[in-house]
Amino acid sequence: MSGTLKIIGLGPGSAGLITPDVKDALETATDAIGYFPYVARVIERSGLTIHGSDNRVELQRAKQALELAGEGRHVVVVSSGDPGVFAMASAVFEAVENGPLSWRELDISVLPGITAMLAAAARLGAPLGHDFCVINLSDNLKPWSIIETRLRLAMEADFAMAFYNPRSKARPEGFEKALDLLKSACEKERLIMFARAVSTPEESLLTVALSDATPDMADMRTMVLLGSRQTRLISRENAAPIVYTPRSMR
Ligand code: SAH
Repeated sequence: MSGTLKIIGLGPGSAGLITPDVKDALETATDAIGYFPYVARVIERSGLTIHGSDNRVELQRAKQALELAGEGRHVVVVSSGDPGVFAMASAVFEAVENGPLSWRELDISVLPGITAMLAAAARLGAPLGHDFCVINLSDNLKPWSIIETRLRLAMEADFAMAFYNPRSKARPEGFEKALDLLKSACEKERLIMFARAVSTPEESLLTVALSDATPDMADMRTMVLLGSRQTRLISRENAAPIVYTPRSMR
């Protein structure tokens, strides 16, 4: 029997934002592998073995998945959001590239999910309606100097921006530095959005002028979106404001 390996994205939190393809993969898998809080979202059933592991062991997890698929099992590797966005898909392919040639013959597929950035943008309005770029603010896997260079150049190009992993307890100072850099180069009224735990019961949304933004507005469950110079806010009496970036440049 030949095994399969599906690298799947569970979306940002709510069941309604899991794609039908991902649901099917979960229903037919024999093994689910992933970071503890993500596999905790997989519904247990007989015939499915759940393998949770720590955040820092991505490559080990990828190898375990490839080994199990090689033994004929039907494996899903789970990520939150989309598996190709700062998540397990790259880790699996890195293991394939450096592993035994037999791993290249396995039936591997990536099933996309709704990434946090898109779920956050949708809740806020359409802040990413024109050109934008995406930066992971964690310096766990890259030097801080790269983050700074990318922020500077993205500001120069006037992209709207989406920031993943803005601030963790282990590196509280990074987001403060990033905010200072943004404040030094953007006008005061530039809109910045904090979308926390989107599509979960703990969801909260906040939009402020960049000059009023403080580091404690973000944590590891927050997506931070920065508008471009064109991004606009529609205020409403009895509802949250709508933030959008026009389709055309004025
Ligand atoms: N693969 C995931 C991203 C993993 S990086 C995806 O595509 O969404 C983890 C970061 O994603 C978090 O630090 C946070 O910035 C963001 N994130 C994940 N889920 C979120 C949610 N429900 N609401 C807001 N941000 C979220």
